[in-house]
Amino acid sequence: MEFREKVMLKDYTTFKIGGEARYFCEVKNIDELMEAVIFARKGDLPILIIGGGSNMLISDDGFLGLVIKMEIKGIEISETLNSALLAVGSGENWDSLVETSVSKGLYGLENLSGIPGTVGGTPVQNIGAYGVEVGEYIKDVEYFDTNDLKIKSLNGGECEFDYRDSIFKRSKSKKWIITRVTFELKKKAKLKLDYKDISEYFLQKNIKKLTLHAVRKAILEIRSRKFPDLKEVGTAGSFFKNPIVTKKHFLSLTKMYPDLPFYKASYGRVKIPLGWVLEHICGVKGVRINDVASFEKQALVLVNYGNAKSNDVYNYACEIQQQVLAKTGIEVEWEVRYVK
Ligand code: NAP
Repeated sequence: MEFREKVMLKDYTTFKIGGEARYFCEVKNIDELMEAVIFARKGDLPILIIGGGSNMLISDDGFLGLVIKMEIKGIEISETLNSALLAVGSGENWDSLVETSVSKGLYGLENLSGIPGTVGGTPVQNIGAYGVEVGEYIKDVEYFDTNDLKIKSLNGGECEFDYRDSIFKRSKSKKWIITRVTFELKKKAKLKLDYKDISEYFLQKNIKKLTLHAVRKAILEIRSRKFPDLKEVGTAGSFFKNPIVTKKHFLSLTKMYPDLPFYKASYGRVKIPLGWVLEHICGVKGVRINDVASFEKQALVLVNYGNAKSNDVYNYACEIQQQVLAKTGIEVEWEVRYVK
């Protein structure tokens, strides 16, 4: 396997930002992964795993270690009477997997259409959209433990899935590399159409025949209206997590902002759409500083219009966080991973 030197990481992230990797390799199977990890061990190099590079901001200073790009492919399908198991290599493109599942008439992933990145990244932040979280459909996650060079696995319950969160974000999993994810999808299930954007879409288009294909098409269209086209601008999608606050905090906010939208969250808490806060309270929607901007159609998304530096994005994101804190008392967390 080839270990390339001084590879520009901006070419491997959807933000189109990131300096050089000291070493870089692409792994297609477990043997190559083992070889890469041993190479890093011998050179005492830190490891950075990249899938689709769709949820990271990499510093312009680059990464002084080994970057491993996951290219482990393959989809193995086994069927039971009512469901199907799909064991998928972590380097498979996520949206191609969703397309495959829809074309095979399998229910579960259709609302997650159009999300960039690879399969291996999906359990890490438990990607979710339009009322569905991927963790609901994950049977198990196989990973390579670089501590003892062994393949291990966790079942869905053990992954500790939560809102945009999982065990794979905790420090104990720092040395784990996800190699395969197995999904369990149903042959028949109810479509989830309660998000406003989806129900309005079908109502406006007067579509009565609601199929898996129709939902996928709807979501791809809705997303393309709201989210930037990766072919045109650099972005890592939603930059911040939508905050979940206590009921008491929420009630105090409604006194200042009576129109504040909200959704019920677990443990009596309240989820607040941060895009609304950024647009209506902070007024940052569409605001551009040099080549970094809060996207004009969805303020939660930060975009790179060409030559943004990692520091430009970092400073702008911190400024937004401070504004939100000052105006609402909410401590906003990054959804995007910062590699510096
Ligand atoms: P949106 O649909 O305008 O929703 C904004 C916020 O309101 C989100 O926090 C969303 O919760 C919540 N929400 C809206 N309708 C809801 C309902 N019926 N019940 C409960 N909560 C509701 O958001 P958007 O920016 O256009 O994004 C569309 C979807 O893609 C959202 O679900 C968003 O979370 C998702 N998305 C996910 C990622 C990711 O996983 N990295 C990145 C970008 C967008 P939820 O966040 O729980 O859906």
